[in-house]
Amino acid sequence: MTSGGDAPGMNAAIRAVVRTAIYRGLEVVGIRRGYAGLLDGDFRPMPIESVGDIIQRGGTCLFTARCKEFMTEEGQRRGYERLLEAGIEGLVVLGGDGSFRGAKRLSELGIPTVGVPCTIDNDIGACDANIGFDTAVQTVIQAIDKIRDTATSHERTYVIEVMGRHAGHIALAAGLAGGAESVLIPEVSFSLEDVVAKLQRGVARGKKHSIIVVAEGAARAVDVGKYIEEKTGFDTRVTVLGHVQRGGAPTVSDRVLASRLGAFAVDLLLKGETAVMAATQNGALVAVPFDEVFASVRQPAQELCELAEILSN
Ligand code: ATP
Repeated sequence: MTSGGDAPGMNAAIRAVVRTAIYRGLEVVGIRRGYAGLLDGDFRPMPIESVGDIIQRGGTCLFTARCKEFMTEEGQRRGYERLLEAGIEGLVVLGGDGSFRGAKRLSELGIPTVGVPCTIDNDIGACDANIGFDTAVQTVIQAIDKIRDTATSHERTYVIEVMGRHAGHIALAAGLAGGAESVLIPEVSFSLEDVVAKLQRGVARGKKHSIIVVAEGAARAVDVGKYIEEKTGFDTRVTVLGHVQRGGAPTVSDRVLASRLGAFAVDLLLKGETAVMAATQNGALVAVPFDEVFASVRQPAQELCELAEILSN
């Protein structure tokens, strides 16, 4: 099952789950539309050919959804019964923190569950990386590089808003890799006066353009742009990248991570593990108990924040 927000690489993970399970002699059933599909009994058999030609596609061939009903005790019991009726003996859930909470409840009721971390936000902690993040940052970088061309030609300031309601990982990585003047993220307090002062210092020493990357949870780019224009008079433009960041072909590193974690999730179920997340830590495959995952939201690395500051001075 895929659940919650989609992330590029989910299809590669589905493929790895299906192919590994069949290789190990198991039968696989896909549950469509997350916990909503579970409650509706929206199951379909997944033979080996059902996952052909998807490794390179963004999104999820199983569809995804959010399901309020599954947040209730009654909904969870109904979900559990649906799984029993279908003869399902283990469940792999590809998603984020909320999806893992649902998986934990199913495990408590008696169905072994393993989670695979998929979210472009990269905020699921206790692991090296979340599937989808690398692709999302790559998409943002391609956009920043293009915007930079026009920013230079017209000697403009650009404020670019990227996804991240609670997490600044996309903004920080893209700001660093895209050479942004300032990066504003929800986890670190900032002052727009400092942003303006830095812009003015840059212009004073001959800078022709400036790029400011804002995570949507830190500020709205349109407000930042307005503030800059009012304070400086610089020709300032705003771009909100939005949902392009969620789609597209997964990068090599997302495909490899998804393939490893999908296959590992199956092997964990076969070993009798439950209520754990399949992950890598320092490159090695590990099973992290869900409770440990819930207690460890990834924070932006202090070192990266400092580096972004130093390199943009
Ligand atoms: P993302 O944050 O990347 O969108 P997510 O998995 O955290 O992914 P959520 O919308 O939080 O996304 O959760 C997906 C679904 O998981 C919910 O719609 C709900 O059905 C189920 N879920 C979330 N929290 C719980 C919970 N505490 N108990 C049971 N089920 C839950």
